[in-house]
Amino acid sequence: MGSGKVTDGQGLSWEGKHVTVAGLGVSGIPAAKVLHGLGALVTVVNDGDDERSRAQAADLEALGITVRLGDGATLPDGTELIVTTPGWKPDKPLFTAARAAGVEIWGDVELAWRLRGPEAAPWLAVTGTNGKTTTVQMLASILKAGGLRTAAVGNIGVSVLDAVLGDEQYDVLAVELSSYQLHWAPSLRAHSAAVLNLAPDHLDWHGSMEAYAADKGRIYEGNRVACVYNVADKATEDLVREADVEEGCRAIGFTLGSPGPSQLGVVDGILVDRAFVEDRQRNAQELAEVSDVNPPAPHNIANALAAAALARAFGVPAKAVRDGLRAFTPDAHRIAHVADVDGVAYIDDSKATNTHAAEASLAAYESIVWIAGGLAKGATFDELVAKSAKRLRGVVLIGADRALIAEALARHAPEVPVVDLDRTDTGAMLAAVQEAQRLAAAGDTVLLAPACASMDMFANYNKRGDAFAQAVRELGA
Ligand code: ADP
Repeated sequence: MGSGKVTDGQGLSWEGKHVTVAGLGVSGIPAAKVLHGLGALVTVVNDGDDERSRAQAADLEALGITVRLGDGATLPDGTELIVTTPGWKPDKPLFTAARAAGVEIWGDVELAWRLRGPEAAPWLAVTGTNGKTTTVQMLASILKAGGLRTAAVGNIGVSVLDAVLGDEQYDVLAVELSSYQLHWAPSLRAHSAAVLNLAPDHLDWHGSMEAYAADKGRIYEGNRVACVYNVADKATEDLVREADVEEGCRAIGFTLGSPGPSQLGVVDGILVDRAFVEDRQRNAQELAEVSDVNPPAPHNIANALAAAALARAFGVPAKAVRDGLRAFTPDAHRIAHVADVDGVAYIDDSKATNTHAAEASLAAYESIVWIAGGLAKGATFDELVAKSAKRLRGVVLIGADRALIAEALARHAPEVPVVDLDRTDTGAMLAAVQEAQRLAAAGDTVLLAPACASMDMFANYNKRGDAFAQAVRELGA
């Protein structure tokens, strides 16, 4: 943590203030340290009481912070504010007790915003069910190409708290925000923000699709320059309409089609801007070519347009959009081309952990052998399978909830051959890739886009993607 001047936006003094930090972890530990450093009397509460938590607790206690392990439910006496790990569900008894006692609850993003958000740098914020990380990284790359000091922060890389309190000076921040973080960030006011798309996800946490959408929509509240929405996803435009924004803030759409006024879109393979140009009724500005986007899959072009819209809202020139997109390389396991074997392309999109993401992946290829399955998290697969059926050469199913996908395939794609591996052990991936090779013909794509979480078989989606890549290498050997 650096020495930036710390205010809390409300003129409150932290000295002696009783703050409860809910949850030890990637956001709880830094929050506890920062608050302690400001003179607050910090108590950290945590549900777990395992070896790791005990070691983390010992480190904090050495600094003089109180830690209560094994009881994240009871509100400590005298609590004046809770700062919570964003993932903690709003209906937890701790929060019920806090609300009854009139105690405010902030997440890590709210804390960062109140401490030094507006002073550190303007925020260009991104949320959506899928594409957040990619878009924020593209945005940071574009801003850098425009000569601005920036970083991709939030759910990725640097935490927002570190970014606003650290020694590094920024002109602007590219901030990824999850629906949980937005839920707990009521006073955040971004320069401009984008909601990329909205599909059912994390509904067990939010309680309903309406509540999930409302939390995502908070990102637009108080925007000053632009609210960026997806023309193909009306729900995102509705959120803009419902938001309370600063006078003069504009609604800017992005579309894979030809853009109307106040939109960015695609014309003859060129990304064009009809929003941030003089006389947008008649004029458009070329930004980049579709081939500058890596990979140039339709959903990723949409991500590039959203990133471009936010950068243009901040005043970045067109050339920086092209240079920034060219300089961008996607993170691992996001439509990563692993190898071609016997004329078949093997693509790792292990990060497609829900049906909306898998649908975007499947739409990017013509003839696919699809490897899918894992933990469904309450999802249904009918719509995904019905929309993708005509592209499927074959399917290989792995993981705990594969029967749900098998049933959807039987209903909507009965002619597509399906291999049900009936396995959840780690070695199943090699068998899955071998089966996929058997089903594929030259010119096809074998696509790992599981539409499910990985934790039934792997530690995380990275490990699942690594296992796929390893299996492909063994085929080629
Ligand atoms: P997030 O940070 O929102 O999880 P990522 O950029 O990490 O998003 O991408 C996650 C996965 O979502 C990708 O592997 C891809 O399958 C899918 N995806 C990315 N962008 C989009 C989009 N705009 N629409 C639908 N799916 C997408």
